[in-house]
Amino acid sequence: MEKNVKNSCVYCSNIEIKKRTIIENYLAWVFPTNIPIVPGHILIAPKRCVAKYEDLTAEEKESIEELRLKIIKALKKAFKAEGFNYAWNENKIAGQSVPHFHLHVLPRKEGDEGITEYEPRKFLYRPGSREATPEKELQEISEIIKKFI
Ligand SMILES: [Zn+2]
Repeated sequence: MEKNVKNSCVYCSNIEIKKRTIIENYLAWVFPTNIPIVPGHILIAPKRCVAKYEDLTAEEKESIEELRLKIIKALKKAFKAEGFNYAWNENKIAGQSVPHFHLHVLPRKEGDEGITEYEPRKFLYRPGSREATPEKELQEISEIIKKFI
């Protein structure tokens, strides 16, 4: 059962996503999403394939938090972020399309494009509702952010 979940998980099976890695530690990594709501929209995920926050170990939660603190510093510099939206979707009903926990981090600034009203289900992760960003552009985004870490 768990093996099936792993095989169908795009984060675990798509090597392009690994190439997008901005920063990682032993238990988690950071990469740009392919359908960003704003420039610099990134995801933080545990390396172990688990679907829910409650499935994470204390060490994995710490690793995610360590990366969050590092990445927001870089996003402030790279994208002049003045604030952030944080979100994760849990279960299909809440819009979780990849069964692998991931924290969305959206750098926000005055006048940016993206969320103009706050209704997460309207914006966060409905594949097909927006065009995916080309892989090359996503890897360039990773390189830009890496310069500020
Ligand atoms: Zn996975």
